[in-house]
Amino acid sequence: LLSLRAATVRFGGRAVLDAVDLDVAEHEIVCVLGPSGSGKSTLLRAVAGLQPLDSGRILLGGHDQAGVPAHRRGVGLMFQDHQLFPQRDVGGNVAFGLRMHGASRTSQAERVRELLDLVGLPGAAGRAVAALSGGEQQRVALARALAPSPRLLMLDEPLGQLDRSLRERLVVELREVFGRLGTTVLAVTHDQGEAFALADRVVVMRDGRIAQSGTPLEVWQWPADAFVARFLGFEN
Ligand code: ATP
Ligand code: MG
Repeated sequence: LLSLRAATVRFGGRAVLDAVDLDVAEHEIVCVLGPSGSGKSTLLRAVAGLQPLDSGRILLGGHDQAGVPAHRRGVGLMFQDHQLFPQRDVGGNVAFGLRMHGASRTSQAERVRELLDLVGLPGAAGRAVAALSGGEQQRVALARALAPSPRLLMLDEPLGQLDRSLRERLVVELREVFGRLGTTVLAVTHDQGEAFALADRVVVMRDGRIAQSGTPLEVWQWPADAFVARFLGFEN
């Protein structure tokens, strides 16, 4: 579904994405791990069309995305800080993604209900965003990202602000939801436990390059190099 070929982004002469090759298959869940500043968010922003490449190519469904604007790429991106609209209620936030895609008002309301059920917030459409817990807000953000049924859903630290026990529970739920919908997912996380629980495949980034890509088991058992091993916490 998604292919990056030698995708490169430079800031001030430094390659923040450095000739990255990456393929994500239909229905696959790929988690990107790596230290702060290794280029994870930049990768997602480039695929979403929010960050132009300096060189290389991004293909979606076999089509080169050069010059294709973000809203025409059919991808969803949930940002690191989920950026809900505080002045809209839960339903208004979820419907935002639908309104942009021109759904009618009644089918919109029906779809918002479905999505809130899906993320475990049934009946929450009328609630004020500010009155929700952090975990509930992240579920709303997820429902909003899922609303237009993107062919590729990208999540940047989707559970970042939550405590460990809530994260562990949500990860299991997310995996179940994505499996049921057949969603293709490219997700960034700091947390290797989260990545290993969620992903079919894990990609470890270092300084704008992919240090290793493999199943969670492969990466865990056979780290490609000392950097990956250290990052996974195997050496001191
Ligand atoms: P984190 O885990 O902290 O979110 P990350 O892996 O997502 O880190 P990026 O946000 O992709 O990292 O940033 C990679 C590098 O690119 C960082 O050094 C960052 O300072 C730099 N960078 C990102 N966006 C810009 C920009 N618009 N202008 C200049 N430098 C940028
Ligand atoms: Mg980031």
